[in-house]
Amino acid sequence: MRAKKLKRNRRILDACAETFGLADPLPVLIDSSFARMALRHKVNMSDQLHRLLDGRNLALCTTRCVIKECQLLGPVMAGTLKVLSCLELHPCHHKRPTTAVRCLTKALRPVATEPTVDEASGVSASDPNWRPLLASNSERLRSLAHELTGMPCLLLEHGQPLLTGLPADTRRLLAERRLRGLRAEADEAAAVAAAATVDASVLKRRQRGANPLSCLKKKRKRQTEQQQQKSDEVHRNIDNNVDLSSTICRRRKRGRRAGWSRRPWHVRQFIVEQLQQQFLV
Ligand SMILES: [Zn+2]
Repeated sequence: MRAKKLKRNRRILDACAETFGLADPLPVLIDSSFARMALRHKVNMSDQLHRLLDGRNLALCTTRCVIKECQLLGPVMAGTLKVLSCLELHPCHHKRPTTAVRCLTKALRPVATEPTVDEASGVSASDPNWRPLLASNSERLRSLAHELTGMPCLLLEHGQPLLTGLPADTRRLLAERRLRGLRAEADEAAAVAAAATVDASVLKRRQRGANPLSCLKKKRKRQTEQQQQKSDEVHRNIDNNVDLSSTICRRRKRGRRAGWSRRPWHVRQFIVEQLQQQFLV
């Protein structure tokens, strides 16, 4: 088998697995038209389909209604009936046998989550990933299967098995899912970039250091202003020739240790002059 064909089939199956999830072994529902063509061209269905589907494990099966329809068609379908009898039986839940198309159409619907057990065979079909491939040479049945399962189908053409392409609905679903994934990745990348920008700005702000105005010692400045005010007051009193006794007393009260020698020179000079004037008068 050509490498290009194998690559195409692998790509289709990978898309199905991504969209729906594929059961292992992968179920393949075979109808009488496919089995008849395989018999005519002497095709070993198990080997050929195994190679066609990228070496996956396959469970080839049919239904009781398909076999019953072959029996009703008589000796013409004897060989086909023999081929179908070798396959596994998929539980179809038809108490009275119906047509193959109706039975396979029902069997192809995606399985409900509740477990369903066939009364006759006791086979359970509770796997939610049970989404079979239809192997049929009937074009009508294949188009129905495309609508119901969203899966590709198998057919025999000139004795060679072929895998059809994905239905349009599945391709659209797959494209939407991939687009959502790309959008989510883009949003995540944008969030990471925004977080990195914020970190860089915070780091830059920290590297600049503290504001130098906030480092000024305000208390010392305040004390200096108070001292300056007191000094101005003393000078103002001296200039106005005011009796400094109250000021001196206040200074004495505040600092008992302050003696004559600790007083400022101009104060001492002023007191001496005052005393001299009093005694001279
Ligand atoms: Zn049936």
